[in-house]
Amino acid sequence: MIEHLLSCDDLDAESATLILDTAAQMAHAMSGREVRKLPTLRGRTVVNLFYEDSTRTRVSFEAAAKRLSADVVTFSAKGSSVSKGESLKDTALTLQAMGADAVVVRHPASGAPHRLTGWLDGAVLNAGDGTHEHPTQALLDAYTMRSHLGRLEGLRVAIVGDILHSRVARSNVSLLRTFGAEVTLVAPPTLLPVGVDTWPVDVSYDFDAVLSRLDVVMMLRVQAERMNASFFPSAREYTRRYGLDAHRMSRLPESALVMHPGPMNRGMEIAASVADSARSVIVDQVANGVSVRMAALYLLLSGHKGGAA
Ligand code: ASP
Repeated sequence: MIEHLLSCDDLDAESATLILDTAAQMAHAMSGREVRKLPTLRGRTVVNLFYEDSTRTRVSFEAAAKRLSADVVTFSAKGSSVSKGESLKDTALTLQAMGADAVVVRHPASGAPHRLTGWLDGAVLNAGDGTHEHPTQALLDAYTMRSHLGRLEGLRVAIVGDILHSRVARSNVSLLRTFGAEVTLVAPPTLLPVGVDTWPVDVSYDFDAVLSRLDVVMMLRVQAERMNASFFPSAREYTRRYGLDAHRMSRLPESALVMHPGPMNRGMEIAASVADSARSVIVDQVANGVSVRMAALYLLLSGHKGGAA
């Protein structure tokens, strides 16, 4: 097993499958319990280090660590010495001195989690770095697809929207390809990254043209906070061409899943009626996130110096 979880590129099919299978065991172990806690990481400390806003990921990692009985310290950059200009390195050395066994980090700079591995003895888990990667999101997405559709190999998945700014898209492309799924990116040309032609995917500018052959449609948020220019004429025009509304959903095959990593811009990339429909597995994605993060913490900490109990 790997030492840190930084990028889906570091996972081969075997280690990624191990994480999903362990997550399934975690979910099973939790299901019948009155007290939803396993003693596995008792006495270990997990630090959540968040330099960017987060709802789902932060709460999910926190719940995962607590369900494994670890001590959890959550540190958000707002209200800490980071706002006084403390560097990532000094923050890391402080965490190291406190004996963090694992650090879960979200940072606006791509590559920040990788930098941390040079300063910490514990395991580092990337909870989203800039526009680079968000590996636990891709793992929980794969888990959700596998649990609904029974397989990943050969699935036809479209990832639709703001690919340019999306670490979710990058992690999903990598992991889905490792599992043998076929990925199509659907976006306006302005929201596709330079060099996308070298990615192992198909690219389409026409959402309507791909709908009828999909097993999964994954909608992405338009990331206005990362946009320093205008990438499309108007929100209305974007929704008309790339939004998933009830009409487009009706053209998907009967069994196709609708996914979104959240937070959603309801009414923009996804209609509220679609997000709340029976096809949508968005709430399952959130629930599965806890099991997947439990698995990642467990596997990394049990492989790490000291081992888990
Ligand atoms: N929550 C995801 C992320 O942190 C997706 C998003 O923000 O749109 O990357």
